[in-house]
Amino acid sequence: MNDFTNALSAAICGKADAALILSEANRFYYTGFPASDGALLVTAKGAIFYTDSRYTEAAIRRLGGQYVRNSASMYEDLTAEFEKQGVKTVAVEADRLTLAEFSNLQDKLPGVTFLSDATLTDLIEAQRSIKMPEEIEKMTAAQRIAEAAFDHILGFIKPGVTEKEVGLELDYYMLSHGADALSFETIAVSGVNSSLPHGVPSEKKIELGDFVTMDYGAVKDGYHSDMTRTVAVGKVNDEQKLVYETVLKAQLASLNTFKAGVSCFDGDKAARDVIKEAGYGDYFGHGTGHGVGVEIHEFPRVSPASKAILQAGHVVTAEPGIYLPGKFGVRIEDMALITETGCIDLTNCPKELIIL
Ligand code: ZN
Ligand code: ZN
Repeated sequence: MNDFTNALSAAICGKADAALILSEANRFYYTGFPASDGALLVTAKGAIFYTDSRYTEAAIRRLGGQYVRNSASMYEDLTAEFEKQGVKTVAVEADRLTLAEFSNLQDKLPGVTFLSDATLTDLIEAQRSIKMPEEIEKMTAAQRIAEAAFDHILGFIKPGVTEKEVGLELDYYMLSHGADALSFETIAVSGVNSSLPHGVPSEKKIELGDFVTMDYGAVKDGYHSDMTRTVAVGKVNDEQKLVYETVLKAQLASLNTFKAGVSCFDGDKAARDVIKEAGYGDYFGHGTGHGVGVEIHEFPRVSPASKAILQAGHVVTAEPGIYLPGKFGVRIEDMALITETGCIDLTNCPKELIIL
């Protein structure tokens, strides 16, 4: 079908006779075709996309008629295909299927043995984590939309405007400037609320001396962007300044550490050490970053618990933060493409403290 399905076909060989991909995100990754329903069968002979009449014509246009089956009775069609190709073992997505869905598969496809351990999950994660140039282009395009929204919002934020209004303005700007969707529910928090790492925008009005943290992104052609900026309104005190500078130093330390062959543990530690040394170690509770792609959170995680090693082609975020309960918080987040010699920051947006 394409390079992605060919690579999976080769990777599954020797482990199972086929991979059956049912989850929306993985189906989209392998076919490039967005559909709420369907199944992708990948075997040594190639790939077949089963879908119903709602999607058949669009799928044929996108993928080519030889790869698409209009399947009113998908399980019977799959059974026939298994017999035709001699498929005995079928790997499934253990991390995506519910127990009910798996039980249903076992009922409907009784002639095969399912490989339901982490085999297929691990293969897909590894493949999806290495971004191809066309994927990087889409993510960069999404990121550029978010950056334009940032420029716009700097002129919008002022005392009296609510967090909700800031969030909605970012959303409206992105959606009316090329974004297909929002990466996730935009975070726009200010003042005491900025100490909540994933706070929800409220009716709180922005006040003089507030930090405003905005964490948001755009989706373009199925690929996500993710960025966070914290800006100050009117003035900052010495503590705000120190915390901002510490977070920025930590963020740069992790970006400077990112490189193919470096562990995610060390990528996280670089940022964490800076924050610890400044005395704020207790106020940085989350991991430093995560992979991004057809989903907002993907393999690998850049965290103390991660055993993953960064590879060329990974796109991961660097987003350390310091959150002082009842006071304020700061987070700065960029997306970076890992290379053999370091990383390329895909975020083209200033990070020095902006006081509006
Ligand atoms: Zn984010
Ligand atoms: Zn993020």
